[in-house]
Amino acid sequence: MKDRISILGAGESGVGAALLAKAKGFDVFVSDCGQIKENYKQKLISEEIPFEENIHTPELIFQAKEIVISPGIPDKADIVKAAKKNKINIVSEIEFAGRYTKAKKICITGTNGKTTTTLLTHHLLKKAGINAALAGNVGNSFAEMVLEDKYDVYVLELSSFQLDRMYNFKADIAIITNITPDHLDRYDYKVENYVRAKFRIIQNMDPNGVFIYNEDSPLLFDELINVDIDARELPFSIEECTRVAAWGNEKMFYINPRFDYTSDQNNTNDIITINHSKSTLKGKHNLYNAMAASLAAACMGATKEQIEAGLRDFVNAPHRMEIVAQINGVTYINDSKATNVDSAYYALEAVHKPIIWIVGGVDKGNDYAQLMELVKKRVKAIVCLGKDNATVVNAFRGAVKNIYETHDMATCVQQCNEIAQDGDVVLLSPCCASFDLFKNYEDRGEQFKKYVKLNCNPGN
Ligand code: ADP
Repeated sequence: MKDRISILGAGESGVGAALLAKAKGFDVFVSDCGQIKENYKQKLISEEIPFEENIHTPELIFQAKEIVISPGIPDKADIVKAAKKNKINIVSEIEFAGRYTKAKKICITGTNGKTTTTLLTHHLLKKAGINAALAGNVGNSFAEMVLEDKYDVYVLELSSFQLDRMYNFKADIAIITNITPDHLDRYDYKVENYVRAKFRIIQNMDPNGVFIYNEDSPLLFDELINVDIDARELPFSIEECTRVAAWGNEKMFYINPRFDYTSDQNNTNDIITINHSKSTLKGKHNLYNAMAASLAAACMGATKEQIEAGLRDFVNAPHRMEIVAQINGVTYINDSKATNVDSAYYALEAVHKPIIWIVGGVDKGNDYAQLMELVKKRVKAIVCLGKDNATVVNAFRGAVKNIYETHDMATCVQQCNEIAQDGDVVLLSPCCASFDLFKNYEDRGEQFKKYVKLNCNPGN
């Protein structure tokens, strides 16, 4: 009899895992407690993979030798608790798929900058002529790609939720972009649990592996002494320092892919100077992302010219410091993906003009004090956009004179237009999750773009 694999959650990762498991000869069963999207259902049907939706039936699920679980299902879900009681191995799609490929894996995690760094790393590898694929949180399911396994390198964006269920998986290059408190509801409100989850990205690595990390991120830096690091360490920083593998500024940065952390005599001839002034990515946060991605690409053999060419024509995913329009001298920027304090900090930091700041939504316990200095310096007006704006109003009352409250995007953009003057920037960088007024951050960003553009062409 074939071994059974149960898959919990029939989204991109779950369906990918189901297809791979079937191809590898398992008896597969898929269970989703919600409705399965039509395109995913069709894939399961055409591969004759049995599934259920709107329910989890324990008797069917627990016949399995192993469960592959979607990152969205938390440990406290009843089905997970029951699976643990039944002593069934629970793994993520990445752990499962990693068993079936010999390709190199560049894995990227961090609180902010994962998607940007992942997309950029992939872009730089392509520029260098490397046969690389993009998977994980961004792009297509890793498992589904492993089915054909026609790539030499996979660039994988990994969330802490995926890392939580990874045990034997080994990255060849691991990147942690930064760590600040986030998603603490999934970590018993203990930041150390969240930090530990992020560091799972380096588990199983050996001295042939490379660990690229942000030395300027305090939570990350402090954890370094608590973990055994067998991989070669390539820290990056914006401070000029001989003890890092990458450093620099928004015009120029320097990377040394051969850097040896344990040596005092790194060869300066190994340092590659990268002209960053023509890069499409702007702001200090993106300098960090660019250094991390360039280090990874250089470790894979990309040259200075290939990296600079890639930085010049890289197009980031939408909703990340995306310039939407310039109307009557006012620039509109959509940074709807900024759902926490740190990402909003870097957005405010990157804009050197008077800012009309759109902020608010579902506050995940934000500490706004960190933003106060910047807000006082850069923000001329705040337009709150949330169901309940009291927290934002109370936090910034003393720092900004003009605070307006709105509860929908149309009114919000209209309010911004009324107060914006030539030379101002209207910045949607809400610092909060979106689901009080919007489906998700994409919906929030799309609505922003729609109303800004309506203003551009009012006849439409
Ligand atoms: P993630 O995938 O980790 O959410 P993204 O690249 O999608 O990261 O960016 C999310 C938000 O964080 C955006 O608002 C972006 O401008 C901001 N951001 C990107 N990189 C960084 C960074 N290195 N540090 C802080 N904020 C960042």
